[in-house]
Amino acid sequence: MVGKSSIQSLRETHLAPSLSLSYTIPLHIVKGEGQYLYDTDGNQYLDAVNNIQHVGHCHPKVVEAATAQYQRLNTNTRYLDETIVNYAKALTDKLPQGLDVCFFTNSGSEANDLALRIARHITQSKETIILDAAYHVNLSSLIEISPYKHSGKSGSGAPEFVHTIPMPDPFRGKYRGDNSGKKYANEVQMAIDKIQESGKRVSVFIAESLMGCGGQLVLPKGFLKESFQKVKEAGGLCIADEVQIGFGRMGDHFWGFETQGVIPEIVTMGKSMGNGHPLSAVVTTREIADAFNNGMEYFNSFGGNPVSSAVGHAVLNVIEEEGLQQNAKDVGFYLKSLLNELKEKYSIIGDVRGFGLFLGIELVRDPESLEPADKEADQIMNSMKEKGILISTNGPDHNVLKIKPPLVFTKDNAIQLVETLNGVLNEADY
Ligand code: PMP
Repeated sequence: MVGKSSIQSLRETHLAPSLSLSYTIPLHIVKGEGQYLYDTDGNQYLDAVNNIQHVGHCHPKVVEAATAQYQRLNTNTRYLDETIVNYAKALTDKLPQGLDVCFFTNSGSEANDLALRIARHITQSKETIILDAAYHVNLSSLIEISPYKHSGKSGSGAPEFVHTIPMPDPFRGKYRGDNSGKKYANEVQMAIDKIQESGKRVSVFIAESLMGCGGQLVLPKGFLKESFQKVKEAGGLCIADEVQIGFGRMGDHFWGFETQGVIPEIVTMGKSMGNGHPLSAVVTTREIADAFNNGMEYFNSFGGNPVSSAVGHAVLNVIEEEGLQQNAKDVGFYLKSLLNELKEKYSIIGDVRGFGLFLGIELVRDPESLEPADKEADQIMNSMKEKGILISTNGPDHNVLKIKPPLVFTKDNAIQLVETLNGVLNEADY
């Protein structure tokens, strides 16, 4: 087997340096099973961070579905194929009525790019409303609408057609508290007014219904409902980016947008959809899909091919058969309550938030000033890893510990995570 140092040196030679490694001392993982990862020395890590491996690492039913379909056939979506259409039916059955039509793609970024293209065609406008700190990821069209990147290091800001409203953060944002939803929705109205006053039309409002890179941020109640209404009244479309939060992770709901009681015109999804296999989609209404059918064909070489569809369908089946949405609800609720107990003990924990198995712990140096404890967050993440628990950090101030494990996470795993975190916080004297 190639040693860790030669992997690192090959990596430095042949992989782009703009790609970082996780943890100060990087991991060399060689095996995954369920919610566990194993390194070359056989050390076991409890994986509380890899939300992509949604139903567990190397789930046998997903592996079997992929293998069987690979052995039978892998073509593309230009042929009649029952695997593809059965999956499209099963997927749209999980969405509210009316969201019936799929465009299959290969990454969340590709899905978001296509969603923007569809919206721009329908509305004949590019004027886009986004949330500050949002991240819709890595295509050029998406850096333009991702303040997380274009306002960060080496970013060149937002183009004129992008209108950014303050991140709806009830903890440390422009407006605070549970009742701040209306105030943030007013900011959406202000963006609409600005667009219209300049003689233009609103194209689209895109948001995650619980912000991942925004620091596991639960949007204030009513925010999306009011914002969607205002955007619709202005003739715009709403896109829900479900790439991180969809597929039962929220516990009470299969989709993140349901936590805010809204129905978007366009939904984008990816990551967990293929449990690690490159599979993503844009799902929209028949009316919108037909209006986009403007003569310029949309074909995607790999998107939704029979192997991808078989994998995606197996993931849906496993979620159902193993009751993983319910597990996300039960274990997530339990874990959150344990974390809230820790919050009482350590003043560095400013906020514990999230739904289901998508939780965040915001760290602050001072409960009054809310000074972000970013270095501490990084140190805690690394100490947790040394003790066999994998989490990550994020948020605009890099001070939020992120917990988003495969949905097979158990209550015992939750106890192990919280006891380890307690030890780390205690040792560091926070
Ligand atoms: N949207 C959100 C909210 C994401 O977090 C990501 C991935 N981090 C994407 C879209 C894009 O996914 P991908 O990496 O598959 O392009």
